[in-house]
Amino acid sequence: MSNTGTTGTTGTIRRALIIGGGIAGPVTALALRRAGIEAEVFEAYETSADGIGGSFTVAPNGLAALAAVGLAEQVDGVGQLIERMVMEDGKGGAFAEIPLGGRAMRRAELYAVLQQRLREEGLSVRYGKRLVGVEESPTGVTARFADGSTADGDLLIGTDGTRSVVRELIDPAAPGPQYTGLIGVGGHSAHRLDGAPGRGESVHFAQGGRAFFGFWALPGGAGTAWFSNIPQPEQLTAEQARGVSRQDWLALARELHAEDLPARDVLAEADAATVEVFPRLEIMPSVPNWYRGRMVLVGDSVHAPSNSSGQGVSLAVESAVVLARCLESHPDLPSALAAYEAARRPAVEEVAAKAAVVNSRKASAGTGA
Ligand SMILES: Cc1cc2nc3c(=O)[nH]c(=O)nc-3n(C[C@H](O)[C@H](O)[C@H](O)COP(=O)(O)OP(=O)(O)OC[C@H]3O[C@@H](n4cnc5c(N)ncnc54)[C@H](O)[C@@H]3O)c2cc1C
Repeated sequence: MSNTGTTGTTGTIRRALIIGGGIAGPVTALALRRAGIEAEVFEAYETSADGIGGSFTVAPNGLAALAAVGLAEQVDGVGQLIERMVMEDGKGGAFAEIPLGGRAMRRAELYAVLQQRLREEGLSVRYGKRLVGVEESPTGVTARFADGSTADGDLLIGTDGTRSVVRELIDPAAPGPQYTGLIGVGGHSAHRLDGAPGRGESVHFAQGGRAFFGFWALPGGAGTAWFSNIPQPEQLTAEQARGVSRQDWLALARELHAEDLPARDVLAEADAATVEVFPRLEIMPSVPNWYRGRMVLVGDSVHAPSNSSGQGVSLAVESAVVLARCLESHPDLPSALAAYEAARRPAVEEVAAKAAVVNSRKASAGTGA
């Protein structure tokens, strides 16, 4: 990416308003800066999300996108290398290996890297700015926030996650996220996998009799990171989910994996204090309109392919970089946004379709379906 600000759409799009300061938002701001477009990030929450969230894997395409915004070294310094995915039979045996070359990390680690780089580049994140409306004119766009304030720009980018307000403003009939029929529970265990063949630098997946189990050895013999996808046909309400303690979620995972190896041993030594719960694992169905006028979507707001894909964060950061490149290289906004959608839609929908098949298999575990 050049930094001239004189090529492509960047002649007319000088300032972007980015709605959502999660992962895609900061990466979009950094990518736009490299394309010569100034950006400001507006986050609904009053404070940053330092330290919040569980772990995810950034796949090679995601690492390449982060490298494109100058973060290769910083990202190499967090989490751990995952060279391959190993498919196991739930009894401790492996039956397939797939090369990966990604990194597993806590969301909070990547978030911290991004916040640090935004500060270094003088890019601001405004907290307590919940988008509630947008006014568009032929020459610009105005964002309206819940606190009564407004901000003006040439383009508004919705990186506001699966419950995106920008998606609704683009198309009030747009679909919302769909429940997969699965709950995600995960954490850390003191159990050491050392000694088992192929267990270093690999993420392992095992379909147990009643729930799906994923795990990987933490560096330096620090134990094992694990997660379980638990079938739950009836979606829990937020209140029901809040009523279940971390200890109870861990107890449920232990019960469901009592016959599975190495899940049973990993969970026996799991620490309840590290347990993170995602009571509703969701996907975004195909979104008909990715953009309208001066508004466009990036990340989970337009393509959340489910945790079964291992691609959520990677696709989000990749889309951020592709959007910036399209704005830089196309002569006007409509052609830049059309090129962005054309470049991304087929890839993200293919990933989502494959993940949907895996999800339905996981959700029917133990039902005989
Ligand atoms: C707190 C948190 C923890 C997470 N933990 C994990 C995890 O452990 N494992 C995993 O695989 N994925 C996790 N995710 C999801 C993961 O980060 C995303 O799937 C992926 O990184 C794509 O990111 P995104 O930026 O598109 O969406 P998100 O990361 O969801 O970010 C969206 C941001 O937009 C903000 N926002 C929403 N509505 C508005 C509005 N109206 N105005 C302004 N801002 C708004 C949200 O507060 C949020 O900060 C987490 C998400 C969040 C928000």
